[in-house]
Amino acid sequence: MVARSTLLFLSRHEGLKDFATHFKPFRKMTSRFVAGEDIETTIGAIRELNRIGCTATFDHLNESVTSREETEAEVREYKRILERIDETGIRSNVSIKLTQFGLSIDPELAYRNARAVVEEAARRRNFVRIDMEDSAVTQATLDIFRRLRSEFDLDTVGIVVQSYLRRTRDDVLDLLEIPARIRLCKGAYNEPPEVAFPDKKDVDENYVRCMKLLLKSGVYHGIATHDERMIEATEAFARAEGIGREQFEFQMLYGVRRDLQEGLAREGYNVRVYVPYGKTWYPYFMRRLAERPANLTFFLRQLVSR
Ligand SMILES: Cc1cc2nc3c(=O)[nH]c(=O)nc-3n(C[C@H](O)[C@H](O)[C@H](O)COP(=O)(O)OP(=O)(O)OC[C@H]3O[C@@H](n4cnc5c(N)ncnc54)[C@H](O)[C@@H]3O)c2cc1C
Repeated sequence: MVARSTLLFLSRHEGLKDFATHFKPFRKMTSRFVAGEDIETTIGAIRELNRIGCTATFDHLNESVTSREETEAEVREYKRILERIDETGIRSNVSIKLTQFGLSIDPELAYRNARAVVEEAARRRNFVRIDMEDSAVTQATLDIFRRLRSEFDLDTVGIVVQSYLRRTRDDVLDLLEIPARIRLCKGAYNEPPEVAFPDKKDVDENYVRCMKLLLKSGVYHGIATHDERMIEATEAFARAEGIGREQFEFQMLYGVRRDLQEGLAREGYNVRVYVPYGKTWYPYFMRRLAERPANLTFFLRQLVSR
């Protein structure tokens, strides 16, 4: 079986990214995790999620952008998404990545671009979640988030933390001081052991520890996981502490554990699904394969049986 680290290594391979993006048969295979190539198709997917009682977060796939023009195109794309959310009335906010807005070129550029999107969201009373990328940009991402949070209110911009990082519990405590709306996830990148817990057991323990801090804070946070043990721990803690189901939301990825998404929504939990679209799907798709390497067999079979 191909290891998680190999798939994550390949996810950063620029040559493979170019090849995969232009190889048409791959596009069909990715449809399990990627809603489509354009905004309108994605709106259709979100309507369907809304119908089963889930909300969404709209994400345009692109990361590690290296040209200023491309970062500006991303801002235009997100403004268009926010406009279409308003026009169609779908229940969705948006998620962005700062490397999509130029973080690897110049942090000031990323801040200005992200600010333009957050300002548009504020105008439309919507919400922007800043995804967390690999540990090389954790501090820069938090710094830009803090800057934006000082200009916009709690319900306009939020951030993500990853329980595999050793620093995360301290980050959660600092962020709650502001306060901030936080999405808690386990973390999806290849990280060295000095930075991230190498053992799943420690990642999960830290997840539960952080989840408890979030739930007790009185702020509306996102508990992002498909791990039934993490979900059960959250449900049990909320019950024991008398925290109502409306005070937080579960979050999951498009195409992963749809049964769980629907089941939790039916039980009266708030469930938000992360719905990505776009042509630059390769790194995102590879991270999804890495989370469950058994997925690879399924995709290779699909490719062979074409
Ligand atoms: C809404 C949302 C937003 C996220 N945002 C970020 C972010 O900003 N930064 C970041 O680093 N990571 C992000 N992630 C990814 C996250 O860090 C994990 O890599 C991912 O969620 C898998 O972890 P898990 O909690 O589901 O638990 P795991 O222990 O990895 O998985 C638990 C179970 O869930 C199922 N499962 C999990 N992943 C898959 C998959 N890809 N395919 C099929 N089944 C699967 C399997 O049944 C597995 O046994 C996000 C995840 C979600 C749900």
